[in-house]
Amino acid sequence: MLSSQSDQSSQRAAFQQCIAPDCGQTYGLDEVLPLCPACGELLDVTYDWDRVPVPASLREFEARWSSRRNPVDFSGVWRFRELLPFAREDQIVTIGEGQTILQLSDSCATWAGLKPGGLRLQYEGLNPSGSFKDNGMTAAATHARMTGATTAACASTGNTSASLAIYASTTQLFRVVVFVGSGKIAFGKLSQALDYGALTLQLDGDFDDALIRVREVCQAEGIYLCNSLNPFRLEGQKAIIYRILESLNWEPPDWIAVPGGNLGNSSAFGKALIELRHLGLIDRVPRVAVINASGASTLDDLYNGRDLRWNGGRPDKALIDGWYSEQDAEKKRAKTMASAIEIGRPVNLVKCLRTLEATDGLVCSVTDQQILDAKAQIGAAGFGCEPASAASLAGVKLLREQGQIAPSDRVVCVLTGHQLKDPDATVTYHSSDPAGEVTSQRFLDHEVTSAPAANRPIPVANDSAAIISRIRELLHA
Ligand SMILES: *Cc1c(COP(=O)(O)O)cnc(C)c1O
Ligand SMILES: [Zn+2]
Repeated sequence: MLSSQSDQSSQRAAFQQCIAPDCGQTYGLDEVLPLCPACGELLDVTYDWDRVPVPASLREFEARWSSRRNPVDFSGVWRFRELLPFAREDQIVTIGEGQTILQLSDSCATWAGLKPGGLRLQYEGLNPSGSFKDNGMTAAATHARMTGATTAACASTGNTSASLAIYASTTQLFRVVVFVGSGKIAFGKLSQALDYGALTLQLDGDFDDALIRVREVCQAEGIYLCNSLNPFRLEGQKAIIYRILESLNWEPPDWIAVPGGNLGNSSAFGKALIELRHLGLIDRVPRVAVINASGASTLDDLYNGRDLRWNGGRPDKALIDGWYSEQDAEKKRAKTMASAIEIGRPVNLVKCLRTLEATDGLVCSVTDQQILDAKAQIGAAGFGCEPASAASLAGVKLLREQGQIAPSDRVVCVLTGHQLKDPDATVTYHSSDPAGEVTSQRFLDHEVTSAPAANRPIPVANDSAAIISRIRELLHA
């Protein structure tokens, strides 16, 4: 089993490495390993920074804006390739991911209790498949190609499958099998997997079940696994941090708020920031706030409720196992309108603890009501987002109210997915009575009882004079 720890590991510039300090086993880049074979812990992609050329300043990356006809310079992930140097340039699989923007939003700032100028929204919904997942999938697809994979698979609440499927359909490099839970996937996302031609398996179970099955199937069939256990995916997701910093003229904000589902994004953010600090490319690390949905709050419950910590890479596993046993005994499953973060057993939990430690981070939970109200603010202020993404702004408002975030702090909310991913949630919210009860059964099944920021469609007669008088009434009200 340990044969892959080669004597050359000290001479390799990039390799895979177990994150547990008591193990620390290293593996070559050519191996396809869901977890450390020696101890079962998560793997990192690790670099010997003395062996790879690193720019003297982050500003050097700006030069690539002038060579955007070169696909790897156009990519919002690979133009930072010196910071994820695991692939040769001719191996890179890119479809133009990462053309995102960081938008100032004073109305959201005011709503969350921050000063104007203090809040920015990082729109990851502008990626080719409409979510941040493309940042990671370009890296996983690259690694899949490096290892000669012909079939790739993932379990998904929707966006991972859309992302994996778009990389397969645009490049034709491999076939794709996606596992989704029954009735758990927003139609915008399911429609993508179907349209991009993925073999789509709808499992009788939820996401946590689907992830267990896809891991077993990949192992048995030699299929390349693209869930966020895959450390190469997280390498690509580091680029979200690079682009945020770039948009801020390389001046780190005080906070970066991100929704927490499987905790891949928060884990990648921490790794990016730890490496940038190690390389002397930033001198101050922003604090990462990870926001759970209250119906899927494993991280919040363990971190705040039971004081689970990274603890130098030796977190208290008994605490985690005990908590999961309790959930199982009570037959509790994750349940939230924000389907992208409806995850009870986040695979990257331990890596996320590392992020929280390294960035002096925070964790909190927000209800579906708080999420949908925040989502309506974001939509009214800009490009909009899907429900899970709005957990970031809802969390910032809560942390502001709790006094954790100061009114003058500079905050970036990562909006992980596009508004059109889940139009059902949006239309139901806006169709409801702002003052009264939300009547749609779908909403009643969750915690949402009113929609204060609703913008209801107004019925009018098929008559111009009546319409004009109604418009005058409404616009001048
Ligand atoms: C996947 C996803 C998340 C959760 O991200 P993790 O890295 O799993 O924590 C949040 N929002 C959207 C829109 C997603 O697609
Ligand atoms: Zn190990």
